[in-house]
Amino acid sequence: MRLRDFNPANIRVEDQRGGRFPGGGGGKLGCGTIVILLIGVFVFGADPAQMLGGLQQMEQNSPASAPQSGGTTTAESCSADQTSREACAALASLDQTWQPLFQEAGISFQQPKLVFYSQAGQSGCGAAQSAMGPFYCPTDQGIYLDTDFFREMEQRLGAGGDFARAYVMAHEYGHHVQTLTGTANSVRQAQSRNPQAANPLQVRMELQADCYAGVWAAKNADLIEPGDIEEGMQAAHAIGDDTLMKSAGRRPVEEAFTHGSSAQRMEWLRRGLETGDEDQCDTFKDMRG
Ligand SMILES: [Zn+2]
Repeated sequence: MRLRDFNPANIRVEDQRGGRFPGGGGGKLGCGTIVILLIGVFVFGADPAQMLGGLQQMEQNSPASAPQSGGTTTAESCSADQTSREACAALASLDQTWQPLFQEAGISFQQPKLVFYSQAGQSGCGAAQSAMGPFYCPTDQGIYLDTDFFREMEQRLGAGGDFARAYVMAHEYGHHVQTLTGTANSVRQAQSRNPQAANPLQVRMELQADCYAGVWAAKNADLIEPGDIEEGMQAAHAIGDDTLMKSAGRRPVEEAFTHGSSAQRMEWLRRGLETGDEDQCDTFKDMRG
């Protein structure tokens, strides 16, 4: 994927790298809302039941203190390395793509912030740990990214390439879209009304974010290079729940899925890519009468 030039003044970036945030604030998970993880913790061998417990715990605790801002400028943060540059460029493109769509729909739009951290950081949803993978925190509308994750993604999951990395950014941005549209809130309410459906509902959220990622790419088709779509599909396959569970040496259990199977993730990413229409991303459609 080619990267368009962007003006750092037009994007929101916070930088927690550089050792100003040791230990992630003692690990207190304070959060009024659920942290939405890209891939959950399956890659890193945690028990899905524990993960769900962790999310519930996050919901019950009080809000964490607001993240402090780093001492670097956005331009400096974005030029720290190639993956930072890519992430900033993707963010700028995502802002430019989604803002007009919200305008057309008459829904107010705020830009999310991209927060770089290394190993451990602070989010509005509690401690950020690189083992969590990239995540979106609705409380402070932040996309939290430890850029080292991309090396893990390539080496451990076999999902490399700039488009795979852009897909990750676009997926997290999809959760921001869901927050602004109110979908995220509706889903959280439905989850608390019916805890048994919490996982299937979460899967629908994740698949919608995948579809939104595809829509973004489709609306920037002029930036797509040969091999990009394959990279995206490879990444979507690699982070499917069944594939992650199998590679962790476990039998895939559908009830424990939180992000969708590899086939589902590929299907919804492809749907976004092929239609370029966010209205085609209604993963909740068949639930309504
Ligand atoms: Zn997600």
